[in-house]
Amino acid sequence: MPDCVFCAIASGAIPADLVAETDTTLAFRDLDPKADVHVLVIPRAHFDNLGAVAAADPATAAAMITTAAGVAAAEGVADSGYRLIANTGAGGGQTVFHAHLHLLAGSRLPGF
Ligand code: 5GP
Ligand code: ZN
Repeated sequence: MPDCVFCAIASGAIPADLVAETDTTLAFRDLDPKADVHVLVIPRAHFDNLGAVAAADPATAAAMITTAAGVAAAEGVADSGYRLIANTGAGGGQTVFHAHLHLLAGSRLPGF
């Protein structure tokens, strides 16, 4: 997708601090971290949001969650706990319209 920053990361055109990759997913550190651990998990292919991934390619949606769980284990937070967030649409706080999961962990996260 032209002008999509996460497509550019997936293609290698823009560098990112990669922490995991699979055939269908990529995980890299957020440029502006909101927690001690803040990793983004994306599908390599462009979808506008997580719901669109699940509708078109449920295996890739599941792979995003599996990749996130693997990153949590590698970062040492699988047991202490972590949060997965998928902001969807402008009203949901989404600013990059390539599907992604935020993996947040570290110091205790606030409840809501
Ligand atoms: P959203 O607000 O769409 O849920 O999350 C987008 C996230 O992408 C934000 O947390 C933002 O900091 C991150 N982000 C935006 N551009 C880049 C980039 O070029 N590289 C990386 N690593 N993260 C980015
Ligand atoms: Zn994209």
